[in-house]
Amino acid sequence: MTTVFHVIGGVEYPGTSDRTAPVYNPALGVETKRVVLADAADINHAVNTAVRAQAEWQAQSLARRQQVIFRFRELLNEKKSELAEIITAEHGKVLSDALGEITRGQEVVEFACGAPHLLKGDFSENASTSVDVYSTKQPVGVVAIISPFNFPAMVPMWFFPIAIAAGNSVILKPSEKDPSAANWLANLWKEAGLPDGVFNVLHGDKVAVDGLLNHPEVAAISFVGSTPIAQYIYETAAQNGKRVQALGGAKNHMLVLPDADVNLVADSAVNAGFGSAGERCMAISVVLAVEPVADELIEKIRERLSGIVVGDGRRSCDMGPLVTREHRDKVASYIDVAQADGATVVVDGREVNPDGDERGFWLGPTLLDRVPISSRAYTEEIFGPILSVVRVKTFQEGLDLINSGQFGNGTALFTNDGGAARRFQSEVKVGMIGINVPIPVPVAYFSFGGWKKSLFGDSRAHGEEGFRFFTQTKVVTSRWLDPSHGGLNLGFPQN
Ligand code: NAD
Repeated sequence: MTTVFHVIGGVEYPGTSDRTAPVYNPALGVETKRVVLADAADINHAVNTAVRAQAEWQAQSLARRQQVIFRFRELLNEKKSELAEIITAEHGKVLSDALGEITRGQEVVEFACGAPHLLKGDFSENASTSVDVYSTKQPVGVVAIISPFNFPAMVPMWFFPIAIAAGNSVILKPSEKDPSAANWLANLWKEAGLPDGVFNVLHGDKVAVDGLLNHPEVAAISFVGSTPIAQYIYETAAQNGKRVQALGGAKNHMLVLPDADVNLVADSAVNAGFGSAGERCMAISVVLAVEPVADELIEKIRERLSGIVVGDGRRSCDMGPLVTREHRDKVASYIDVAQADGATVVVDGREVNPDGDERGFWLGPTLLDRVPISSRAYTEEIFGPILSVVRVKTFQEGLDLINSGQFGNGTALFTNDGGAARRFQSEVKVGMIGINVPIPVPVAYFSFGGWKKSLFGDSRAHGEEGFRFFTQTKVVTSRWLDPSHGGLNLGFPQN
């Protein structure tokens, strides 16, 4: 069986710990690899390596750094089908979806190619007599990225292209459930000419994360994962004086007004609810149907679900398995919860007949109607292929429900009424909003991030905020003496 090792200083590093974790092929339901789990010595080795490499990387010219990022982009574009296969083998999502996540990540790499422009400072000549004031942006140092299982390539790529372009070194701690994509990316950086030690992969669990959170040489933490862990990461990193951005969980609602195009809504609800088996932080998990639209919409969604092929992501299927047996069972348990609380199971994913190995972690698309808002199936993040319909009487009732939730990641409104859309985008307490767009993930030059318990910290991912997060600003006030200087003045200069 293959063992997935750390990649530190440009080489595979087995580490000193004998702890490992299983990696499954979710479509086959079998363990295919083991991944090493870092201990304190491994963490120190990764951080010391990153510290040494960072100083040299920062000293390289912007032009040189830009060339390496550009080369990385070219190699990624050329070889991304290899990476997609790795993702499908460990995560389970279908190949086309794996390629889709790489393409979204690649957009951030392309954005980072413009780093020299985004790293420019300001300059004010003669701010006071003969005094010039200017600002520069410098890297923060060693950056740790702790990522979730659901986007093993895209989520790390929200951060590392920008961190590296800005002159930092990176330690990526990927999810132990699908660790191999990170190693592939590390090898690609090496091929692109990035100096060894600027991009490192440290595999592990809570021990590795806590080690990074508490290491004095780690300057900044970018975390993406579930809300309780995000909150813990944010609080611990902040207490330790680190810069931190921690993106958490979600429960995204689609509000459907009676004037919406019901066919478009049904297509969008199915795509956004069941793509990647619902294991997306921007997946739609609740449809708020403003009456009288619910009956017709449910029927159209039900029709579409009957054509969804669930199976091995390497075959021509629409939807793959869930990531682990444990996660599959947890997601399926919400169907019982909803039913016990009075919901109607319109389509039951437990009855799926997959195009794949019977041991796979299968759960088909599930559609629930009349889910009570007191049910845990409504209030909690499920993170699987379960779409709940909640019937509401008015736009206002739907808006109030969205705003009363604990999460604020994404939401969508479907309508042909421009006035309603304007009001919605202004009054909804959510970070990313789609108007007749079900998964409104911002493009790379905007920033990604939610509100409330979907984001702890004040910096979102990529865009200009990404460059701000990974740099610190210096302001220089300078005066070059000329014969006219001099004289005592104990106050602030006035002119
Ligand atoms: P997770 O919180 O279980 O794990 C995320 C990372 O934290 C992993 O690297 C994991 O090893 C580490 N971790 C796990 N337990 C830990 C602990 N006790 N202490 C320290 N570190 C720990 O999340 P997941 O199951 O991998 O991913 C799914 C979650 O991520 C969902 O909640 C989803 O909404 C969220 N997510 C959010 C976004 C976003 O942009 N807001 C994007 C993708 C995923």
